[in-house]
Amino acid sequence: MTLERADRLKRLPPYLFAELDRMKTEAGKTGLDIISFGIGDPDLPTPPHIIEALEAGGRNPVNHQYPSYKGMPPFRQAVADWYKGRFDVDLDPEREVLSLIGSKEGLAHISLAFINPGDVAVIPDPAYPVYEAGAAFAGGEVVAMPLLPENDFLPDLEDLKRGVLKRTQLLFLNYPNNPTAAVATEAFFAQAVEFAREYDVVLVHDAAYSEMYFDGVKTPSILQTPGAKDVAVEFHSVSKTYNMTGWRIGFVVGNADVLSGLGAVKTNVDSGAFQAVQEAAVAALTGDQSCVDEMRSVYERRRDVMVEGLRGLGLEPNQPSATFYVWVPVLEKYTSMEFTTHLLRETGVVVTPGNGFGVNGEGFFRLALTQSEERIQEGLERIRNAGF
Ligand code: PMP
Repeated sequence: MTLERADRLKRLPPYLFAELDRMKTEAGKTGLDIISFGIGDPDLPTPPHIIEALEAGGRNPVNHQYPSYKGMPPFRQAVADWYKGRFDVDLDPEREVLSLIGSKEGLAHISLAFINPGDVAVIPDPAYPVYEAGAAFAGGEVVAMPLLPENDFLPDLEDLKRGVLKRTQLLFLNYPNNPTAAVATEAFFAQAVEFAREYDVVLVHDAAYSEMYFDGVKTPSILQTPGAKDVAVEFHSVSKTYNMTGWRIGFVVGNADVLSGLGAVKTNVDSGAFQAVQEAAVAALTGDQSCVDEMRSVYERRRDVMVEGLRGLGLEPNQPSATFYVWVPVLEKYTSMEFTTHLLRETGVVVTPGNGFGVNGEGFFRLALTQSEERIQEGLERIRNAGF
């Protein structure tokens, strides 16, 4: 059988991380001890009270049936209450909250609801690759907004061409940002909301890292901007906040018409998230939040060890005030990929080449703080000994 893949799969940008995965496996086979700072997946377990809620929920036969498409009412209420407490934003749990099977699922599907072939989705560059893949699957044209260090990795919206904006349906933003670890100011969000109103585009804000902030400085929600609900939706996740990446539960809030469109796609694609998992997420959002403080202090300490260590090696990392990523310019003599492969072969240390996130990621690499302080020290030591 000759099996031809659909054009939408062929249109995806090359998967640069595949080559890295192959090299990682190869290096592992030679017995080299691999220290991976590659993947943004917390190494710490889910707090016990959340697991207990899953256990109890799993025993309730009501939860063994199909869940409600848009999320069970107590889940949507818990999200609205959490939002009020965290951001002082009022949400109608009936119309302005939608459950997701992880925020990735919703971010990938939203373009199917609003993008026709020929329409534009504007995405940041570098970025989490799902925005582009979702828009490409919908047949959309993707226009990139560079995130540059000289602009604190905030896009210059005024740089977008009027002709492009006429065809733009969705404009994706992500703060705290993966991979640059940048945070947005309230002033930037206010500017983005005004811009979206003027050009009649939907702002899709990915706030998956909203709770991973450091030094006691909370990050804002785009919905705190007056009038934002007219043009914006915000994606959230419990994945990073409560070490629940494997559980697949997230939510999107904001403009009711946008949520209704996304909900219409989802009704045809999935049947909602397992209700016991929704109940566990309710326990996470409404329970004792000291586990979140603990999570922040673990990453804050790791960040300090990593940043100080890298500076000692002559590198110039940013000092992240949120996310568990460190975004580092590579030494000038290397490209991102050359640096990454060289580092892996010489030291067994895995980092992610910045160009995997878009052309403006070239010249950088990303480290995820998902290893213990001891392993971070060990990784730094190896880099030092290898003479980088
Ligand atoms: N947004 C960003 C920027 C991410 O980095 C990730 C995961 N790494 C997600 C969304 C998806 O998270 P989840 O589907 O687990 O909620």
